[in-house]
Amino acid sequence: MIAEIGHSAFHSIINNQAAYFKSGATLSYQFRLDQLKRLKQVIRNNEQAIFDALNKDLNKHEFESYSTEVGVVYEELNFAIKNLKSWMKPERQSTPFALFPSSSYIHKDPLGCVLIIAPWNYPFQLLINPLIGAIAGGNCTVLKPSELAPATAEIVEKIITEVFDPAYVATIQGDGAQVIPEIMNSHRFDLVFFTGSIPVGYAIAEIAAKKLTPVILELGGKSPCIVDKDVDLHNAAKRIVWGKFTNAGQTCVAPDYLMVHNSRKKELIELIKKYTNEFYTETPSSGDYGRIINKRRFTTLKNYLEQGNIIFGGQTTEEELYIAPTLMENVSIDAPLMTDEIFGPILPVYGFDSYKETLALINKNANPLAFYLFTSNKETEQFYINKVSFGGGCINNTLIHLGNPHLPFGGVGNSGIGYYHGKFSFDAFTRMKAVLKTQTWFDSGIQYAPFKEKIKLLRMFLRY
Ligand code: NAD
Repeated sequence: MIAEIGHSAFHSIINNQAAYFKSGATLSYQFRLDQLKRLKQVIRNNEQAIFDALNKDLNKHEFESYSTEVGVVYEELNFAIKNLKSWMKPERQSTPFALFPSSSYIHKDPLGCVLIIAPWNYPFQLLINPLIGAIAGGNCTVLKPSELAPATAEIVEKIITEVFDPAYVATIQGDGAQVIPEIMNSHRFDLVFFTGSIPVGYAIAEIAAKKLTPVILELGGKSPCIVDKDVDLHNAAKRIVWGKFTNAGQTCVAPDYLMVHNSRKKELIELIKKYTNEFYTETPSSGDYGRIINKRRFTTLKNYLEQGNIIFGGQTTEEELYIAPTLMENVSIDAPLMTDEIFGPILPVYGFDSYKETLALINKNANPLAFYLFTSNKETEQFYINKVSFGGGCINNTLIHLGNPHLPFGGVGNSGIGYYHGKFSFDAFTRMKAVLKTQTWFDSGIQYAPFKEKIKLLRMFLRY
């Protein structure tokens, strides 16, 4: 927190970063490549400590920590290391004949000094993945981990301090509600990259607007999951259970609620129960199943359990912050469980007969971050893709669209502004600078006064 590190220490970090950026040290391909490689190495060296921290904060099993946090970061790092050179190359563009004899290109400019703010649910990945984009783009970075995942925040600070000069990449800690407005009000960042909740996203955008600071907002929302009548239900059930109960449902792109065709509803519910029991033991001590981040969230989720009929699960153990994978029915669409983002292991289920009913429910919480559809019908697929505004999603799967670095990841409307991953991360932390270069051996002179009859010539060139 600024109060902890002191105002003058924070200002010296910021001033040093501004000077470091201005020196041009971050610009070259070789420098950026070296930093990406060093980041990868320091993560490798500290892998076990990162797993331990994630386990402490969220009871994440090492497998889950590798597959959804550290492994994802390696993938992004490898992709960036492999492609950085081609991403950095100026892009030649065509030039209209009227501007003859000129050529044009886009130069990829770093933004400067950026702030990256992360939430607690994937506290490692959601801080380091944007950092990869920032490094690839040639920027200096201030990182703000979530104070609600303190063990991960500590290890992140340790590894960042070990590998980077704070004049290049620095970490600040503390209560985000206090620290972030303070630093954003006292300093103009060249970009604020925020991942978190919708209300805090609004607050960040409001502070940023005062200094015309650009923002990327990676927010949440209620992501629907639809199961049509013509699908392999075993497949659908397994993938829904995995997508919903990974990290105990505390995933921004988890299926928030389920809509299933009435003709298959009973069967699907039975299969979801079956696979939930198979994947996770029924005891709270199972190391394969996560815990709720803190008491406040536990209480919110526990209250949701009273807003409908529990048809599976529903057990809770407060001392362990454990909430069993739970299915609910008969939840009013006006209950907080259906107006808030659930962000926990509770899955409300609705039956439907017509697509119109599904659209009505989706539109109550418009612009979800993710959308999942299980169908074998191409027309149904196209119908929903065209009708629903969502950030990204899967047909016949959940979550895994995030794993493809060739796809942009981000929200729309309520679920966010901007996107990243793969080359999109490089683009997110880069500004496209337009350059037009004219040869000196010829000058038509058409643009110079006196104009006289030149308008005819100009119309001929422009062809209208
Ligand atoms: P949050 O908005 O409470 O906090 C996110 C970050 O903002 C934290 O670092 C926190 O310190 C800081 N913060 C908190 N209050 C603040 C304030 N008033 N002003 C400025 N900064 C403040 O979110 P969370 O609870 O950590 O995470 C859960 C939310 O994040 C969910 O809504 C989830 O959907 C969303 N999320 C989105 C993505 C995505 O990629 N789109 C990924 C993960 C989580």
